[in-house]
Amino acid sequence: MIRLFDSVHGEVRNLSLRNAGRVSMYVCGPTVDNLPHIGHGRFSLVWDVARRWFTFEGLSVHYVTNVTDVDDKIIARARAESRDEADVVKQYEGEWWDAMERLGVATPDDAPHATDYIEDMVELIGSFLERDVAYLTSDGVYFDVSSVPDYGLLAGQPLESLRAGARVEGNDEKRSPLDFALWKNAKPGEPSWSAPFGPGRPGWHTECVVMSLDLLGDGFDLHCGGLDLKFPHHENERAQAVAANRAFARHWDHNGWVMVGDEKMSKSLGNFTSLTDLLERTDPRAYRLLVLRSHYRSPIEVTEATVADAERALARLDSLARRFDLPALGGHAFELASTHHWEGASLELFERVTAAMNDDLDTPLAVSDLFEAVSLANAGADAGHETSARRLAQSINVLFGALGLSLLAGSHAVDDVSRQLVADRDAARRAKNWAEADRLRDELVARGWVVEDGAAGTVVRRP
Ligand SMILES: [Zn+2]
Repeated sequence: MIRLFDSVHGEVRNLSLRNAGRVSMYVCGPTVDNLPHIGHGRFSLVWDVARRWFTFEGLSVHYVTNVTDVDDKIIARARAESRDEADVVKQYEGEWWDAMERLGVATPDDAPHATDYIEDMVELIGSFLERDVAYLTSDGVYFDVSSVPDYGLLAGQPLESLRAGARVEGNDEKRSPLDFALWKNAKPGEPSWSAPFGPGRPGWHTECVVMSLDLLGDGFDLHCGGLDLKFPHHENERAQAVAANRAFARHWDHNGWVMVGDEKMSKSLGNFTSLTDLLERTDPRAYRLLVLRSHYRSPIEVTEATVADAERALARLDSLARRFDLPALGGHAFELASTHHWEGASLELFERVTAAMNDDLDTPLAVSDLFEAVSLANAGADAGHETSARRLAQSINVLFGALGLSLLAGSHAVDDVSRQLVADRDAARRAKNWAEADRLRDELVARGWVVEDGAAGTVVRRP
């Protein structure tokens, strides 16, 4: 039985599925107006790991994540750069999927675009107006949150206290500051679509309701996203489903922030660091490992030190792969559940990792069990117990593969001599001994590496 935190009930519960053996999950995706940031990388990895683990457990998963391709921020960027909105979307959606591929995030089963669902959104908004749960103002159509009796369920606060805390801003024709835009009336030079209630474009909160119900059906299993989406985005999605008399997600779950110092990372705080930049500076597997080493609901800190620490841990795994000549398995998680990988495997390790993962995706415990097993496998081989050590190493490889992390023994793995040269060069740079650092760089280049100065020090890769 898989147990998972439920954001509505505030506790870990059994994941009760609509259909036995099948998980339908919806993860709110990016607005493609900029390069993906590190927080995007985290939520993508967290829910990729969940999806892979469910699959490894023998469940069939239908995974949907959307692309928001019409939004104020996209329009603002197009304006600022004198470009078409479509051109902005094309560029940043391309960057998004590139980053996902480098992170090893498995391709979603469906990746709907908001603009493909305008007609359905118009129909839903029209039905809200007919039934008086939405109203017209001079700048568009708004949803009346007081029409949903349990509005505030995800926020964990009743409507009254949410209203007391809400800031009054923008449109003063709104009946309540919590009411949100379903439809924004067309403005000159902005993309717009026709609708019975006037030309315009949808607000952000409507697309996910329409797309999740269309692709996954009523009462789908799991709706996920970053903690910043819980309120108001998810609250507002749910409110619309309630108003439409549709059964919405059975479970809600949210991942924690990415912290820089003690501040949440976001573009608005100005501490934006792009994921694209991070992936150029480090092995993408190191970021997956960094994410796995924290519980998905806890905040994580992405700093030079935590990245460097994850790189060192990854090097231990690759060196295990070299020692036992293990095949690279990651990326094939969907085939890993098949039993042939388990012939002669370490059942005890399998059971420990399974118990941790099935208890609210406790990846830090699973990873610490796996690293303990790495020490045991190396010690076993040192002591000449080749067969049992190999069995353990193979099990480690399969279980990391199930979490989407490939151990690489191949030519791209850094050999011990090169690793020492990298360490010596970092030491020389810290001591500001530039001549020695340059000499060590030349030596690494002579050994066939491309040498880069990363956030965590020298990074080498094959050309
Ligand atoms: Zn959403």
